[in-house]
Amino acid sequence: MTTKRRKGPILGLTLLFLFTWQVISQAQGKADPKTQIVFLGTGTPLPDPERAGPSTAIVVNATPYIVDTGTGLVRRAAAARDKGVVALRPVNLKIAFLTHLHSDHTLGLPDLMITPWIMGRKEPLELYGPAGTKNMVNHILEAYEVDRKIRTEGLEHSNNTGWKVNVHEIKPGVVFKDANVTVIAFAVRHGNVDAYGYRFATPDRTIVISGDTSPTDAIVENCNGCDILISEAYTKASFDLVSPEWQRYRLAFHTSAQELGAMAYKAKPGLLILYHQGTGPGCDQAGTEECREAGSENQLLKEVRKAYSGKVVAGQDLDVF
Ligand SMILES: [Zn+2]
Ligand SMILES: [Zn+2]
Repeated sequence: MTTKRRKGPILGLTLLFLFTWQVISQAQGKADPKTQIVFLGTGTPLPDPERAGPSTAIVVNATPYIVDTGTGLVRRAAAARDKGVVALRPVNLKIAFLTHLHSDHTLGLPDLMITPWIMGRKEPLELYGPAGTKNMVNHILEAYEVDRKIRTEGLEHSNNTGWKVNVHEIKPGVVFKDANVTVIAFAVRHGNVDAYGYRFATPDRTIVISGDTSPTDAIVENCNGCDILISEAYTKASFDLVSPEWQRYRLAFHTSAQELGAMAYKAKPGLLILYHQGTGPGCDQAGTEECREAGSENQLLKEVRKAYSGKVVAGQDLDVF
């Protein structure tokens, strides 16, 4: 009898709580976009002090998904945390996708495997990448075997799980899906390299990230009016300064500003963001003032805007979109 009488007020209070919670959640949802893009590195192999190696975080409902692991990414993630993107605290870096295995996109992989673990990450890293990723990870684990032994058996008392990596070697198609995001990998044209671009569909945004590629319809088809297209490009001005060998390389491996303009015209993104910025292959190695000017961000924006009338910006490290 007593139990029965109590049910009414308890049920009422529960409903009131659920209603209030829903109103607060909806209000918060309006104030903060669910999805944020945070550039952890917008560079290339060029050791530019202003640009870490290529790495982009897509943060959805406080869960970060990392695309590429260029050098410096964990420190840039800590800098983003300090700027207010708290989801990018090191122990929270648990899921990553590699576009391809070129060193500029993977030099930070040992950092992502190890540093968050030292800081207390208990979960293994979930890593998605092309064939060869497993082999690379096994070699990194082997290279740091001494460190792992010291830290797990010594006075550091590091946990014995967070250093592990679950590698998922991918093929084109849906490679990942959870409550926040569906990730599609699509093959791109990066010379003879097994390389992918990724399409992230979140509750409020569609984002396509090119990785390294020469022009391909796959970018156009996967964007197809996406909210944001993140793409690489080099300038014609720098192309004209490099040797025929470097020109041949660029044509097979990368996208010119003009080619990107033509792709963006067909892909129709809400916003085009340029990343993977250096002076360009050949110019990076020459390091002359003339090449620096010819491959600069200003020159790149100028050339892309000449070829494409939509909204375009150049991404900087720690920019949030
Ligand atoms: Zn690259
Ligand atoms: Zn590459």
